[in-house]
Amino acid sequence: MSDKISLIDTHFHLDKYQNHSSLYELMNINHQYTLCVTCSPGVFLSCKKLYPETKYVKFALGVHPKEITDPEKSIHEFNICLHQAKYIGEIGLDYSGASPSRDIQLNVFRHIIKQQAERNMLATIHVKKAEEDLITVLGEYPSSKRIIHWFSGSSIQMSTLLSQGCYFSINASMAQSESGKKRIAMIPKDRILIESDGPYSKVDGKRYTPEKLTDLYRTVGCALQVNNLEEIVYRNFLNILSQ
Ligand SMILES: [Zn+2]
Repeated sequence: MSDKISLIDTHFHLDKYQNHSSLYELMNINHQYTLCVTCSPGVFLSCKKLYPETKYVKFALGVHPKEITDPEKSIHEFNICLHQAKYIGEIGLDYSGASPSRDIQLNVFRHIIKQQAERNMLATIHVKKAEEDLITVLGEYPSSKRIIHWFSGSSIQMSTLLSQGCYFSINASMAQSESGKKRIAMIPKDRILIESDGPYSKVDGKRYTPEKLTDLYRTVGCALQVNNLEEIVYRNFLNILSQ
């Protein structure tokens, strides 16, 4: 039964691949449900113009924290695109390396999260070295339609996010690192989703491409010691959509 279930990837960057048109075809032909995130409203619009959304390939409206230059401009562009979007991502907070200031990021993120909660839209969220602020903002606008992607925070922060209703998406790079393995083992099975974060994650040391989605599931399934991961993820994805 399990090989009839379509695989789901809740966080993928189609626009970051040069051969995006052949990958778009492949994901449709292979029936891989893929949420293609974008890092700015401009990229979201370009993707929507290039590719019709299908049963399998969808686009999410994003404002990546590292790509914010002018917060008012980001908010304005986000607002303009919002009526065309069903999904939100990649959004988030990132205080690592050279990033826009905390105030700038919080300003934009809080605005987006408020809209997301009010419209009950599915969101995929990035967080790096900013977990406490993330928890604060999510707590201000409750919603059970949020996926934390490639989580790297503490176990206490993870339990708080779980109590706020968040799901967690896992990739093969997490499943193949020691610290990642410990984190993913703590996620309850009914909150697990799968992401590739392609092209940024690796499967067996090689850059992710959508041909590797089956291998990604096998790798994560092995780390979690479950043999029906596709069923678990399919059920969880239906659950988060129906929240
Ligand atoms: Zn990403």
